[in-house]
Amino acid sequence: MGEKVKKIVRTIRVDLDKCNGCRGCEMACSAYHATPKYSAMNPARSRIRVVMDQFNDEYVPIRATDYAKAGCDGRRVYTIKGKQYSECSFCGTICPTREMFFDPDSGLPLQCDLCGDEKEPMCVQFCPQGCLTFEEVEVEEEEKEEVKMDEMEIGMRALLDKFGAQKIADTFNRLSQKG
Ligand code: SF4
Ligand code: SF4
Repeated sequence: MGEKVKKIVRTIRVDLDKCNGCRGCEMACSAYHATPKYSAMNPARSRIRVVMDQFNDEYVPIRATDYAKAGCDGRRVYTIKGKQYSECSFCGTICPTREMFFDPDSGLPLQCDLCGDEKEPMCVQFCPQGCLTFEEVEVEEEEKEEVKMDEMEIGMRALLDKFGAQKIADTFNRLSQKG
């Protein structure tokens, strides 16, 4: 048994009863992560996406969590209020079985970073319905070695998975020779 340690868990709570599918969260997220900041808005580059069924008035904001090299083996199907959804509908994984959470131009993964050091994430600040609430909770957990990748490492990992190490190395060499 490892030693118990106190740590802060950052959470975004989602109250689905309040969400009206306005996609303000997608706009805010993509603007905040544009380079330079706030220079452009493009929901396709957002790290939160609203899965919606307008006929049934159902909207579910999903935040991009971890990068995965491959899709899951077994999948479930959920029936909610008589409508069927695949398990993937509500999954936050940046997964190669779908386009969601990959930059439309570069194909690089778009992971939610909870807006870095911002006091409150942008999607929470700009949700006009108060559907999203940010919380920092102190929890006591067994100490485990966690390997956290930063955005650059996640991007490199995705490129390696897609093209292989040799091709990346060749391209890198070619580009560095061009200066
Ligand atoms: S917390 Fe920040 S990075 Fe994550 S989805 Fe919200 S706006 Fe995007
Ligand atoms: S901004 Fe709020 S109400 Fe609008 S889609 Fe996002 S979570 Fe829902």
